[in-house]
Amino acid sequence: MNPTMSEIKLSKVVVYGLGAMGRPMARNLHDHGILIGVKNRTEGKRQAMINELNLEEFEDDESMLSQADCVLTCVSADDDLKAVIADILDLMSPGSVVIDCSTVSPNTARSVADDLASKGISFIDAPVSGGVEGAKKGSLSIMVGADREQYKRAANVFAAIGSQITHMGRVGQGQATKAVNQVMVAGVAQAVCSALAMAEKCNLDLKKAIEVFSAGAAGNWFLDNRGSTMVNDEFNVGFKLNLLHKDLKICQETVAELGGQLPLIDDSIMEYAKLMEMDHGDEDISALIRLKRHLLSPELDD
Ligand code: NAP
Repeated sequence: MNPTMSEIKLSKVVVYGLGAMGRPMARNLHDHGILIGVKNRTEGKRQAMINELNLEEFEDDESMLSQADCVLTCVSADDDLKAVIADILDLMSPGSVVIDCSTVSPNTARSVADDLASKGISFIDAPVSGGVEGAKKGSLSIMVGADREQYKRAANVFAAIGSQITHMGRVGQGQATKAVNQVMVAGVAQAVCSALAMAEKCNLDLKKAIEVFSAGAAGNWFLDNRGSTMVNDEFNVGFKLNLLHKDLKICQETVAELGGQLPLIDDSIMEYAKLMEMDHGDEDISALIRLKRHLLSPELDD
């Protein structure tokens, strides 16, 4: 009996986008024996990865992409993904699939899925959570939007890069889940940064205070992992605030399409934009405490 589409696993993957997330994903796919090539806008990063993983040098992009049964994309934002899809659309083979791990809007996911479908190529939106650390360990949480057959077909790709893989529904639902996740991330950051700025102002013993909060109803991951670094003014850890700002714009657009508005999103966008203007865009999202300190001590503005 011939195998169904979902029983034929993907085995020739190309990673497009070798940034902080794409590089470790490519390494994990290579360790699982299913990476055939890599592509990146800046050529130097591509060559470095080819050398590191001892990958085959293809004659050109066309010969690499036409042999791939899957291209895994991980690029910065909506317009970048659209540019990448336009770049590969005519070079991929019908029957192949694009798995996108970037964070973009649900609308962008649906729109590129339509473009690819016109060439017989499938699309899966698969945004991730877990940061660079999760990408290195292959332990990302992956929110998948795809039809069931494609989801099953991509199981081995997901297993190589993630540990929590959840099928959320049709194309676009993975990105909708990620948008909701980012609202929660922003809300927790708002709460913890405000509270710890207040703890500083009350002259509390901050080490003891963080232990107390962690042990009770206020305990959470962000407090445990970013509490002591932020009170020590260490912001070179974790998730860059310019990426959260970009994600919150997607959340704002999604909520507006639903006919509503969430002040938490609007306020967070405004505050992170202010930090970016102050040249803190590459710092961790916990740098929000800088602004909360000013709210509690307006004299700092003088
Ligand atoms: P990054 O380090 O800035 O890398 C971005 C990648 O996208 C680079 O390879 C860049 O190429 C490529 N790129 C950007 N614009 C492009 C364009 N117009 N055409 C082609 N390639 C383009 O970003 P990252 O941290 O890997 O994040 C990638 C995605 O994952 C983002 O959507 C982000 O929101 C999401 N994400 C990130 C994290 C995290 O902790 N970093 C966590 C979860 C999700 P060049 O090398 O040429 O610049």
